[in-house]
Order: sequence, then C-alpha cells, then structure tokens
Amino acid sequence: MKRLVIAIDGPSGAGKSTAAKEVARRLGISYVNTGDMYRICGILAKRKGIPFKECKELEEFLKALKFTVSGDRILVNGEDLWEEIRSEEAGKLASDISKIPLVRKILVEIQRKIGEEMDVVMEGRDIGTNVFPDTPYKFFLDASLEVRAKRRAKELREMGLEADEEEIRKKMKERDLQDRTRKINPLKPAEDAKIIDTTNMTVEEVVKAIMEVVSEGIKG
Ligand code: C5P
Repeated sequence: MKRLVIAIDGPSGAGKSTAAKEVARRLGISYVNTGDMYRICGILAKRKGIPFKECKELEEFLKALKFTVSGDRILVNGEDLWEEIRSEEAGKLASDISKIPLVRKILVEIQRKIGEEMDVVMEGRDIGTNVFPDTPYKFFLDASLEVRAKRRAKELREMGLEADEEEIRKKMKERDLQDRTRKINPLKPAEDAKIIDTTNMTVEEVVKAIMEVVSEGIKG
C-alpha cells in the first residue's frame, strides 16, 4: 500500500515544526523531524569523540543507533534527547555531520523506511528533493532571516534557555549557507514544491495552506 507522505522542507526558523506537527495532528498521522536525527548524530558523535569524517569508527557508531518514532519525538536507542539537542550548537553539529555522505546515506534509508511503514508528515531539508521525490505533497517554507531569528529566540526562551537574538541571527545565517551550498542534497525547494513564505503568516494560515493542497489531493 502506498503511504501518505507530506514533505516539509525549508531553512531553520521558517516555522516547519509547528506547522508540520499540526498538519499531522489534523490528519491523524505521524510526524517526524529529520533534523532531530542529524542533531542526535552530531551531539552523540561529538560526545564520544567520533571523527566528523568518513571512517570505520563513524560507520560503526551510526549503525549502533536505533531510531524510533515516539509521538512527535525521535528516540535513539530508546532515549529521548529532545531537550539536549535544541541548542544552536547542536544545530551546527547537525549541519556539520549532515555534510558527510555516509551519514546522509544511513539516515535517508531510515527515513524512507519510516515512510513505508506509516503515513507521515516529515520535515527537513531534502525530504521533497531526495528522501521522497515521488510524493505529490511537497512544501518549502521560508521566511526573512529577521523573523526566523526572532522565532528561534522566542522558542529558546520559552524553554528557559538563553537567547541572544543577534548571535542567533549570525549563526542561523552561517548554518543556512552551509546547508544551501553543500555538495550533496543541499537545501533547496523541489521543482514541484509549493513555496510558502511564512514571514507575515500566522501558524493557522500556514497550516491551512498545506491542508488545502493535501485535502484536494486526497479527494481527487
Ligand atoms: O531542522 P534542524 O534545524 O533541526 O536541522 C539541523 C540540521 O540538520 C540542518 O541545519 C541541516 O544541516 C541538517 N538536516 C539535513 N537534512 C535534513 C534535516 C536536517 O541536512 N533532512
């Protein structure tokens, strides 16, 4: 049976997670944040002193990680690292480790398997272009750097973490440039993706724009 896969890509702070979770909730399907998978790999590899380059050690490390979907979180070997991986430092480690072809190969395989097993809203950077290029439901969310940094700062503060907006803006810009210009599966909209500029949109408006396309498709 062909599963329903909704791909939501875009740079950090574009509003992907909030919208993707809500779309999944309304449709009663799973939600998977693939960025969290890269964040987990980055943080754990750093902690264990695994080199950020293609090598046997990295391969063995990756193969020992078992990812499972639990509610709207990704567990690794049964553990929930959600809070630990929220920092911008974890984002940078994710961006660094995600450039390595071996890392992408292994994680993309896992992501495709999830999409075969369950109906899912999957968010990331290359879901529409690479992980599920055949899904008719591809969305690319974007927003101005100012607004994206503001949103991320608010999110961090709400979690009780410190947030220097100027610093976040700088780091976000660097990370997005790295993601957009990397050799494999760079951040870019799929040719047939619906591009949504969320700069001046509310969450409800973004969710509605996605739901309209999906509902039309399901009906048709
Ligand atoms: O979405 P989030 O900001 O948590 O992603 C962290 C990093 O993981 C991104 O900056 C990107 O480098 C990487 N990533 C990726 N491909 C995905 C999802 C995330 O390369 N599908």
